[in-house]
Amino acid sequence: MKVRFWGVRGSIPCPGPETVKYGGNTACIELILDDGRSFIIDAGSGIRELGNYLLKKGEVQKNSIKIFLTHTHWDHIMGFPFFAPMYIAEARIDIFGPRASEKDSLEEIVGGQWTYNYFPVLHKDLAAKVEYIELKEGEYDIDDGLRLKTKLLLHPIACLGYRFEYNGSSFCTVYDTEPFQKKEEIVEFIKDADLLVHDAQYTECEYKSSKAGWGHSYMEYAIEVAKMGRVKKLAFFHHDPERTDSQLDKLSEKYNSSSVNCFFAKEKDIIFLS
Ligand SMILES: [Zn+2]
Ligand SMILES: [Zn+2]
Repeated sequence: MKVRFWGVRGSIPCPGPETVKYGGNTACIELILDDGRSFIIDAGSGIRELGNYLLKKGEVQKNSIKIFLTHTHWDHIMGFPFFAPMYIAEARIDIFGPRASEKDSLEEIVGGQWTYNYFPVLHKDLAAKVEYIELKEGEYDIDDGLRLKTKLLLHPIACLGYRFEYNGSSFCTVYDTEPFQKKEEIVEFIKDADLLVHDAQYTECEYKSSKAGWGHSYMEYAIEVAKMGRVKKLAFFHHDPERTDSQLDKLSEKYNSSSVNCFFAKEKDIIFLS
């Protein structure tokens, strides 16, 4: 398996000369299996380029596209209207994700972007065949040989952590979450993962001085749970949009010497899982 990052930021896209190195797009990750099948996690602004890439490769016409939304906050769904396969008649797109509340379905919230208040195309006029599949905390067989486990995280609305397992390798996403008081709860979920992509919007100092309760974690906490779970590689993710390349470089140096193999996720980085 390998993982490619198409968007690594939280909250809002932040393009510009100070974010060129790590990238300015919001959350979007591609998981690619050894046989070439690929799966998408989140539809932040990074999904626009991924859509163009899949079209160019001829993937869209060949296989159905499966997208796993961690939750429906805007930074995780804002790229959808610009995901070109949505406008291709041969495309079949399955959108998985949690229901944010009892009141609104996944389809209502995500599909609600295609109304004239927000966009010039209506959901009913999309060319692709789009289906919405609501997920809860649990275990699922997703595609031939690909197993998915989900865990509810600590965020203002329902947000799922994902654990994909395939051919003895495992890949976990745990972001848009506050730190768990009982660390064992999350350690069990990420145990022995080959790659953990974890929320690292803040430093410990920022979090403890003014950001507790905002729905995100800090780097020192991510390191601690990754270490407890014997994770092989830890990617800091959901970077604060205010964080510049030089600040991320400095933080990278600081955490390089930590006891866990960790790095700050960069747009277009490809990480190979053992
Ligand atoms: Zn977010
Ligand atoms: Zn969120």
